Amino acid sequence: MSESFSLSSLNEAQRDAVSTLDGPVLILAGAGTGKTRTVTCRIAHMLKKGIAPQNVLAVTFTNKSAVEMRERVCAMVDKKAGKLLTVCTFHSLCVRILREGIDKLGYKKNFTIYAGSDQVGLVKQLIVRKGGKDLNLDAMQVLSMISKNKNEGLAPDYHADDLVAEIAKAYEAELRTQNAVDFDDLMVLAERLLREHEDVRAVLQDKYRYITVDEFQDTNGLQMKLLKQLVGKPFNICVVGDDDQSIYGWRGADVTNILQFEKHYPNPKVILLEVNYRSSAAVLHVANSLIKNNIGRREKELKPHHPGGEKLRIISMPGDEEEAEFIAEEIMERHRVNKKPWEDFAVLFRTNQQSRNLEAAMRAFDIPYRVVGAQSFFDKKEVRDVMAYLQMFYNPLSDVPLLRILNAPPRGIGQGSILLITEASREREMSVWEAMANEEVLAELSTKVKKSVIAFTDLVTETRHRLLDQNNRENMGDVLKEFLETIDFGGWVQRSCKTDNEKEKRAEGIHDVVDYLRDASRQGKTLSQFLDRMALQEDRNDDDIEKQKGVCLITLHASKGLEFPIVYLVGLENGILPHKRSQAEGTVDEERRLLYVGITRAQDEMTMTYCSYRSKYGERVHCESSIFIKELDFEHITEHDYEDIMGAEASEEEQESFFSSLNDMLDDDED
Ligand code: ATP
Ligand code: MG
Repeated sequence: MSESFSLSSLNEAQRDAVSTLDGPVLILAGAGTGKTRTVTCRIAHMLKKGIAPQNVLAVTFTNKSAVEMRERVCAMVDKKAGKLLTVCTFHSLCVRILREGIDKLGYKKNFTIYAGSDQVGLVKQLIVRKGGKDLNLDAMQVLSMISKNKNEGLAPDYHADDLVAEIAKAYEAELRTQNAVDFDDLMVLAERLLREHEDVRAVLQDKYRYITVDEFQDTNGLQMKLLKQLVGKPFNICVVGDDDQSIYGWRGADVTNILQFEKHYPNPKVILLEVNYRSSAAVLHVANSLIKNNIGRREKELKPHHPGGEKLRIISMPGDEEEAEFIAEEIMERHRVNKKPWEDFAVLFRTNQQSRNLEAAMRAFDIPYRVVGAQSFFDKKEVRDVMAYLQMFYNPLSDVPLLRILNAPPRGIGQGSILLITEASREREMSVWEAMANEEVLAELSTKVKKSVIAFTDLVTETRHRLLDQNNRENMGDVLKEFLETIDFGGWVQRSCKTDNEKEKRAEGIHDVVDYLRDASRQGKTLSQFLDRMALQEDRNDDDIEKQKGVCLITLHASKGLEFPIVYLVGLENGILPHKRSQAEGTVDEERRLLYVGITRAQDEMTMTYCSYRSKYGERVHCESSIFIKELDFEHITEHDYEDIMGAEASEEEQESFFSSLNDMLDDDED
């Protein structure tokens, strides 16, 4: 999507949508019909018509799409105006709203956002504290129950299981004490703030007079409620989506939001787009043949703009290593012979584990690549530790980051002392940080430990002031670097590494955080703004996918809204796609939509693969091809197996050496 947009580059239905700026608008259309392009032009059109950019809000599904949409608008209008637009995800929007007014709900404005590992850490502590340690309670499962209740607006202790109810209650109480909120709270609290405080609502309704929501099929009930508060008369709201691409049901997304949009906003202008500009006719035929197997969907006409096209391929592979090797080798070949840039290629997969083999194969062939949607930078232990230090500097009252690094690297405050301090903090209803400064608590510690605690709190306080003081001209990245050197963080991390490769990667992770912070500081951002960006993974998405070059290895979920000339979709096997839980959970339709999303990412070429064997926890497990394959229209598909496609190219010997080098690399990676 590199060409710049303009009104003349739109078809009639798209233009109709662009020129209807007042009142509710619903654009319901299939994949690749230019929905995103249309709303992007529509926003540019608003600015050209004299609507103030400050009055325009566009909500996108990922940070990457937000960046892209703003850039597109900027290319069409005055760049300065484009920069004044609010283009962000629901979560970023809520953070903005809450940083302004969360004090009205009794929180302090410097709240910390707990995501992923912070939440799991807290729940794990609570399971132990509430005596559930021996009951095999899974922290992730407890968290997902807590999250579900919150999203449905139920009280935290509304759980069938007493222990879970107790943990959920304690979890809420802990977040409050630590002045922290989790991702669900962002939505819940923002909606409450608007609902309960008319003044806040009035200000925001007046500010955001024109609201657009892309990928509306994946909004959940809470997001809909938030919108209801945010959109004031005369309801200038435009929503865009495709019910066939609703793939976040497991996270509470509710496709009826789009299908019953009229209920919330009567008499909307409904725009149906029918021409697919993205994919070849062949790709589109196959995608359509699949999705029509879903029942209860809104029938849509999808006409290809590009006729013909190469047939799609389905290739059976002996195992997942061969699958990865084949793809890497073919990409290499196409790059060399056909001069295709690396960025033309994407490999789509269903589960995170699938990316390991693919990554290893890319490395074996020296192919530049980027991984999107799977385990990433921010999930690395050393990165999370450094981030915990920064969170603690910002809000020392939040226990989770503080406890994470209190003795990492070891500084003479052992497990026993930590337990004692934590208990003492609980008895006195104060945070761990406050307990560490409390004379009575300190008196309970041995002289040696007490000294370590004081040295630690002194150092933290000093660094904290340097980071938070607006008058301090030091770059925050330099302050962090100096602090990490003082505590020999790098040295400690290095000592825990087994191989040189690991040492290098870990050191890189630490440098990266320092560099990110340095950049943010240079751009005049505060620590709070930096942490919000990180928590919302804004940097993760746009940096990874936009700035880094190479073949894109991406989960099907993360691929929504994107397009690539040449796509490989791996692991078309029962248990993977459809995912093994989907049968029992009655979500096979959602899996089908996921595959539909995958196929409709392809512009020109599409290859799907499945394996007879896949390695799982060190064992080779037999796999069978996906039930979805039988549903595809084979008129536009050719079938192959590994031998016929590889021909006699690779001798057994060569293959063996390839696999052994592949295995070496995977071993290297083991943490
Ligand atoms: P998805 O459902 O995957 O989100 P979408 O409906 O948002 O897709 P876009 O991503 O906006 O579709 O557009 C798909 C492709 O079609 C893009 O490359 C876009 O530039 C192109 N396109 C859209 N409309 C037109 C048009 N009128 N003329 C030419 N190309 C178009
Ligand atoms: Mg789109």
